[in-house]
Formats: sequence, C-alpha cells, structure tokens
Amino acid sequence: MAQIEHTDIFISGGGIAGLIAAAAFGKAGFSVICADPAPPVTDAAAEGSDLRTTAFLQPSRQFLDRAGLWDRLAPHAMPLQVMRIVDAGGEIAEPRVAHDFNAADISELPFGWNLPNWLLRREIAAHLAELPNVDFRPGKGTAQLMTREAEARVSLSDGARISAKLVIGADGRTSPVREAAGIAATTLRYGQKALAFAVTHPIPHENVSTEIHRSGGPFTLVPLPDHDGRPCSAVVWMERGPEAQRLAALPEEAFNAEMTERSAHLFGPLTLVSRRTIWPIISQIADRMEAERIALVAEAAHVVPPIGAQGLNMSLKDLRVLLDLVLAQPADPGARELLRAYHRARHAEVLARVTGVDALNRASMAEAQGLRDMRMRALNAIYSVTPVRRVMMRAGLGATG
Ligand SMILES: Cc1cc2nc3c(=O)[nH]c(=O)nc-3n(C[C@H](O)[C@H](O)[C@H](O)COP(=O)(O)OP(=O)(O)OC[C@H]3O[C@@H](n4cnc5c(N)ncnc54)[C@H](O)[C@@H]3O)c2cc1C
Repeated sequence: MAQIEHTDIFISGGGIAGLIAAAAFGKAGFSVICADPAPPVTDAAAEGSDLRTTAFLQPSRQFLDRAGLWDRLAPHAMPLQVMRIVDAGGEIAEPRVAHDFNAADISELPFGWNLPNWLLRREIAAHLAELPNVDFRPGKGTAQLMTREAEARVSLSDGARISAKLVIGADGRTSPVREAAGIAATTLRYGQKALAFAVTHPIPHENVSTEIHRSGGPFTLVPLPDHDGRPCSAVVWMERGPEAQRLAALPEEAFNAEMTERSAHLFGPLTLVSRRTIWPIISQIADRMEAERIALVAEAAHVVPPIGAQGLNMSLKDLRVLLDLVLAQPADPGARELLRAYHRARHAEVLARVTGVDALNRASMAEAQGLRDMRMRALNAIYSVTPVRRVMMRAGLGATG
C-alpha cells in the first residue's frame, strides 16, 4: 500500500479555478497537491480544447496578480473598455436600442481583460511547474475522500494516499468532493445550450464587448487579438437546446450566414475560424460551501449562465475570501470555524448573483413580443438614470461585495 503523503492543501480539480487556486495558495507558501483526471489541453487546435474565453473583471485581475500569474498572462489579454448591450428583439433582427456602458464612467481601468481558456490552462500549468511547493498531478482523479476532525484523507485514482489539512473542491458542477461531503445542490434547467467559437469580421471591435438580445438567449462577441490580420472575437451564442444542436451541425457557409443575421450585421459578415463547441446551460448552487475539512469553490459551489462574465469571476472571489481567512489563521487552514466563516462570507452573495443572472437569462430567452418590448424598456430605464447605471456597473464588476 502507498505511503501517506502529507500536504497543507489538496485541490480536487485542475480546471481553471483549481489551477488558479493552486497558484494562489502555493504563492502564499502552503504545500499544495492538485489532481485532475483530465490532463489540460493546451493547444487551441487540438481535439477537446476549451475554446471559451474568460473576461477577467478588475477584482479578478488583482487576484491573478496576487497569485503571481498576471505578468505571464498580460501579454495575451485583450482589454475590454466598453460593454455594449443591444436589443434586437423587434419583428426583424436589427438593433432597436444600443447602450454603451463605458468603464471610464467608474474607473481609470478597463472593465476586464479577455483570455482564451486553452491558453490559461497552458500558462498556469507552466507556472505551477516552477513552484517547488505545488505538485500538479494531471491524469489522476480523486477516488475517495474521508474526513476527521484533524485531517482529510484522500485516495487518488493511481492509488496515492494523501493527508491534507484542507481539501478544496474545485471539481466542477458534478463535484465528487461535494458528493462525498453529502452537500446537496439546487439546479435550475433552461433547456438551453451555448455555442462557443471564434469569428473574424471586417468591422473592428474597438475593444467593445457586445451582447445582442433577441430570443433564445444572448449572442455575445468578446474582443480577441487579430487573427491572420483580421479583427477577431470570441462568440457565445445561447439558444434552446434543439436549435443550438441544429446550428452546431450546419455546413460552415450556412452557419456563417445565420450567425451574421443573429448578430444584426453589427460587424459585417462573420466568418467562423474555430471549431464549434457546445455547452449545457444551468444555474446551480450548493446548499453549503463547506463541510468538515472541505471548502467548495467555483462550479462545485455555483454555476450560472454565461451572462455578464460572472462565472469564473465569482469563483476567484471565493478563492480570495478563502485565502484571506486562511492567512489570518495559517497554522490550520482547514479549521472548522474558518470554514464556517468562509461559508457565511460567500453563500448569501453567491445566491444573490445566481438569482440575478437567472433573471437576466430568462429575460433574454423571451419569445413573446410583449416580453421583449418590456425587456427593452427596462434596459432604457437602467441606462438613462446615471447613478443607477453606475451602481449596476459596479455591481457587475463585483466591486460591491
Ligand atoms: C460558454 C461559456 C462561456 C463562459 N464565459 C465566461 C466568462 O467570460 N467569464 C467568466 O467569469 N466565466 C465564464 N464562464 C464560466 C466559466 O467558464 C466557468 O466558471 C469555469 O470554466 C468553470 O471552472 P471550474 O474550474 O469551476 O470547473 P471545470 O472547468 O468544470 O473544472 C472542473 C475540473 O474538475 C475535474 N474533475 C472531475 N472529476 C474529478 C475528480 N474525481 N478528481 C479531480 N478532479 C476532477 C474535471 O476534469 C475538470 O477539469 C463561461 C461558461 C460557459 C459555459
């Protein structure tokens, strides 16, 4: 039988949240083991690569900096200065109302910085390899977890046995750690899927992230660096499940025509320049974010539809709050009172955000013309009152919590 290895922190899951957690807790001086059964795919063109992008909002950039990652990511990041919300919910797919939320209204910095997920995996995994106190084990999954008052015992799929003071569950929406801890989760389903892919377009994006609402869910273009000398954006296109499947299977030319129509022709004809990947959309929240020796973070604790770049940004706030609490009491990073404080600090805010994004998603899915008109009036109302607009912008950044 394998010898027991001792570590301060065991992280189950090396998705983007788990990898960033490993960097952050490693930088803070803790010994860390992070395991994930799926080795990261670090090349955009490879099968299975994650073609989504993540818009890191201002507080998340600060956290990436604190985790020692920002210098390595900055050269690849595309700043987002303006978020444009367009309502194209009339009888035909053309813009009826467009409002620009400019970061300059509330800050000297851009709202956020956009990075491709496959590139994040490549850069963060390379950074972890340089940290002597962090041991990233791709290809190995958490097989068993047992906790006691003084430690957690983890077995990995290769038979390794680990004793940790704290287990961070960063193992996604069907989290094995959450399950082992017996924590229930509430799930809302929309019958909706998101297509994620990259496009080029003749009209430049000028660092504007554009969210176009019609029905079925938003169509969002987020700026990326030029591709073969042409302006390029990452697209997330949400639709009801069967419609998303139909679009995913269309021949490329027909797909280009349909997405150009859905984009209300705002950037001229769109050309697909990547594979199309498809993601199920749900909202979900775990009943608790802690158990004995366990903290749940990121999608293990909460899932939201991709609107307003909230998902991973909420996850980095989980990590920031947890790290601050642990640093205040570094002798035992898994102490029960600390974990309860983590739950208290995060759960209510997470619930409020999950509820808010759920409402936005339902408004964006609206089919009935009356509901679509109501949505447009609500957008106009929010935009036209400057203090309300600023409060909404700050709340969107997570600067209020
Ligand atoms: C289309 C789309 C666009 C998005 N855009 C944005 C955006 O712009 N901004 C934003 O903030 N968020 C965005 N999000 C949300 C964001 O992508 C997710 O929050 C994030 O990728 C989830 O990260 P995670 O690490 O929690 O989960 P995952 O990426 O699911 O990682 C979980 C990991 O756990 C591993 N695992 C599973 N079982 C085990 C086991 N037994 N042991 C160990 N590990 C295990 C898995 O292999 C996986 O690697 C978007 C989401 C979607 C669907």
